[in-house]
Amino acid sequence: MTRALVTGGAGFLGSHLCRRLLESGWDIVCLDSLITGRDENIADLMENRRFTFQRHDVTRPFREESDLDWVLHLASPASPKDYLTHPIETLEVGALGTRQALSLAREKGAALFLASTSEVYGDPLVHPQPETYWGNVNPVGPRSVYDEAKRFAEALVTAYHRTHGIPVRIARIFNTYGPGMRRGDGRAVPTFIEQALRDAPLTVHGEGRQTRALCFVDDLIEGVWRLLRSDVQTPVNLGNPEEVPVRELAAAVRDAAGSGSSLVFEDRPEDDPERRRPDITMARKHLDWEPQVKLSDGLKATIAWARKSWL
Ligand code: NAD
Repeated sequence: MTRALVTGGAGFLGSHLCRRLLESGWDIVCLDSLITGRDENIADLMENRRFTFQRHDVTRPFREESDLDWVLHLASPASPKDYLTHPIETLEVGALGTRQALSLAREKGAALFLASTSEVYGDPLVHPQPETYWGNVNPVGPRSVYDEAKRFAEALVTAYHRTHGIPVRIARIFNTYGPGMRRGDGRAVPTFIEQALRDAPLTVHGEGRQTRALCFVDDLIEGVWRLLRSDVQTPVNLGNPEEVPVRELAAAVRDAAGSGSSLVFEDRPEDDPERRRPDITMARKHLDWEPQVKLSDGLKATIAWARKSWL
């Protein structure tokens, strides 16, 4: 039996990961402050005897009595709207929260997984982005609270690995979407879906020529699962290498929702990245992983879920 403590387990990705690990027979202790997560995300998991939930801010010390094989650290506001609303909390969970997670892993002799991000590459000057690229981050721009927190978290995890020999896994996750996203979390896919379902105009930033690469959540969780089972202790990109201009994404959501919405164009946020696309050579080679779900299918599944859950 494998037992894991999952920070941020009541969030979008954390709840999908907990569900997948429970299905694989793991015992899960979920720690979440609910700053951006929701208890609806784990309502079905609460029925499972192998799942326990504690509401706790992971920047503060926590004790766990039982043995642990893994500490999976996903806690952090993740959408730009959320981390701009909670800038200090975001820096703290990347720094103090990661430190607490590592201390617990060390005490228990457990391995540590860090949910890092493509944002460590900032507004990249290299395209697509391989793991060897060091990034182009504005250290004092509005997005720095997230980008630098994750860069620090990666450095701390790596230092613990080198100094104390803790086994580690670091996933650099690119934009992921799917059922379970919070209505109004500000990310492009839920924003467009919510607007399309109301037949309201879809608000595209700038001219919408900037690109994003969107991974369906089931694919991402499969990638994380394979990473956990691998022995790769350096960062690995997990994301969909299919690049889509944001205006095409808006039109695809509108079509998949059967909506009559128009597209309207608004100012772009400061330091909004121009292009994003993962180089997933490492994940293909070491995890035998690549995304399987087409954007049109993933959008249909997400829209069907949103119709039931949001309306
Ligand atoms: P989310 O906001 O839905 O989930 C984050 C969870 O962490 C929430 O449940 C929140 O309440 C919890 N949390 C935040 N600070 C906490 C604290 N101090 N103590 C305890 N719990 C805390 O976001 P998500 O999309 O599920 O992201 C999960 C992780 O994956 C984050 O670390 C994020 O940086 C990373 N990530 C996500 C994406 C994506 O596209 N979804 C992309 C890159 C990286």
